[in-house]
Amino acid sequence: MTDHPFLVAGGGIGGLAAALGLARHGHPVRLFEQSPAFEEVGAGLQMSPNGVRALRSLGAWEAVEPYCVIPSEIHLRDGITGALLQRIRLGKPFEEQFGAPYRVCHRADLLSGLLTAARRNFKIELNPGRKVEAVAEMPSGARLTFADGTSADGAAVVAADGIRSRLREAVCGSIQPTPRGVILYRGLMPLQRVPPEIEADCVTLWLCPRGHVVHYPVSNWRNFNIVAALDGDLAECGWQAPAPSAEVARSFSGVCEDLSNLLAAPATFQRWQGADLPALPRWSSSRVVLLGDAAHATLPFLAQGAVMALEDAVILAREVTRAPGLAQGFEGYEGQRRARTARIQEQSRRMSRIYHAGGPVALARNLTLRLTKPSFALKRLEWIYRWTPENSG
Ligand SMILES: Cc1cc2nc3c(=O)[nH]c(=O)nc-3n(C[C@H](O)[C@H](O)[C@H](O)COP(=O)(O)OP(=O)(O)OC[C@H]3O[C@@H](n4cnc5c(N)ncnc54)[C@H](O)[C@@H]3O)c2cc1C
Repeated sequence: MTDHPFLVAGGGIGGLAAALGLARHGHPVRLFEQSPAFEEVGAGLQMSPNGVRALRSLGAWEAVEPYCVIPSEIHLRDGITGALLQRIRLGKPFEEQFGAPYRVCHRADLLSGLLTAARRNFKIELNPGRKVEAVAEMPSGARLTFADGTSADGAAVVAADGIRSRLREAVCGSIQPTPRGVILYRGLMPLQRVPPEIEADCVTLWLCPRGHVVHYPVSNWRNFNIVAALDGDLAECGWQAPAPSAEVARSFSGVCEDLSNLLAAPATFQRWQGADLPALPRWSSSRVVLLGDAAHATLPFLAQGAVMALEDAVILAREVTRAPGLAQGFEGYEGQRRARTARIQEQSRRMSRIYHAGGPVALARNLTLRLTKPSFALKRLEWIYRWTPENSG
């Protein structure tokens, strides 16, 4: 183990998780986040059992759990008729089947839980307000240069700087996110404004022709998170921009009254182009390794992006600790993560086609959902939810 610190670029979910993982294995870590404070932005996240298990392994679950909401059930509904197609209970049998619970939370809450855990660990130095401009690799380590002209040296760099990663280029050249023909809207509103017809304690998925809507409570039952996805492309693939709820309601005209009323309820939504990353030729160079969305950004339709970043952090920390050298550590990490994250990316793309079907395909899908036992539906998710650090590779 080297005394030189690991440098982590990006203080989102993946960066903070990587810092925690490395520090728990005894490595000193210096983390650099471009925002002046660790930004409590974003909206709801579903935390599936594999995510809970990763958080436990990072020593952060205790800090995150108090912020999480326990939803009672997952409902799949037809967005046009409102009919319930499938119901999955999230109580004790679910927890027993997967060895950990299913929770929902706000991204800000997950981030503050990770931050609380990071602040308790003296091996982690947190540096907000430091935008990384460049990375240089040297025979004995790596150097980050910041927008303010300063620099930092360390043993290696973990690039956790998100889907639009600047550091990715140092590892595998210029590879940009690929728009996937879907526009995403996120809305957040106080829970008490949710129309009474909506079962606010559930995670509900409404399947509509050319789109779908997911919603659930967050922030200790204070707020309600709505994500709507619609087939289409925006003129620009940039970051989020506000969109009036009238635009969302218009896009989902023809849906049942309950859903239509709900979509009209938030004052505004945030809108952006859904995109993911193609398979990268490699995830690391000699001193820089990619993690989270920087390595394998995915469409959000399996609700696994943040969870994959947490799993990455657990495995990267373990592999660089137990391997004889960094190269072998990075190789072990990529070897255990690449196939799983590629499968998540591929199935997320596929889910949008299934969720957004219309006509006879939608009728067949709905019939299948009605006839499928919840236990069978859950069985098909075991490869995602039953992940543990021990069975990962
Ligand atoms: C609509 C939607 C719903 C989602 N729902 C879920 C869900 O239910 N469950 C789930 O698990 N995931 C979900 N996700 C995915 C999840 O939000 C992302 O996968 C996750 O946030 C990725 O974490 P990350 O740390 O890799 O990147 P980010 O969260 O993007 O963090 C990157 C960080 O790096 C910083 N940074 C960037 N550039 C620099 C620089 N040059 N210098 C310094 N710092 C820099 C940024 O400021 C940021 O803090 C959803 C995503 C979307 C869009």
